[in-house]
Amino acid sequence: MILPIVKYPEPVLQQPGEPVTEFDDELRKFVADMFETMYAAQGIGLAAPQVGVSKRITVIDLSNAKDPEKKMVLVNPEIIQRSGRLYEEEGCLSFPEIREKVVRAAKVRIRAQDEFGEWFEAEGEELLSRCMQHEIDHLDGTLFIFRISSLKRDLALRKIRKMQRAGEW
Ligand code: ZN
Repeated sequence: MILPIVKYPEPVLQQPGEPVTEFDDELRKFVADMFETMYAAQGIGLAAPQVGVSKRITVIDLSNAKDPEKKMVLVNPEIIQRSGRLYEEEGCLSFPEIREKVVRAAKVRIRAQDEFGEWFEAEGEELLSRCMQHEIDHLDGTLFIFRISSLKRDLALRKIRKMQRAGEW
């Protein structure tokens, strides 16, 4: 089932998500819906708050459904190591048409649970590293436009308000 994606400034996007404690069929159905929603929106990452659910769940697939091996489910994830620095443009399904350069670690190591509650560790470099950091930020209620300069943020927010007025947001 494709879920509606909420856009900024929906309050749920700026709230920290609740940790997941129940690893049941309901959770697995929700994870499947998140993948379906992400693929339909042509995204490579989606966090639960973006579909209005304030929980620490995110899905990532850099292959956009082309390679099942690339599917990642991160429940209650945390970054346990970071190194290096990247400064690349990012977008977000909750900010259509807004792209901004964000400083991120070049490499991260994360710890998370899968949809069955199994803990695992994984590493991400380059795009995967950025995607992991962007999605885990969502679970903390942190949005990428709050990781750029206030000048750039004001410009982006002005663009959003203009689109809102034109009924394009
Ligand atoms: Zn995002």
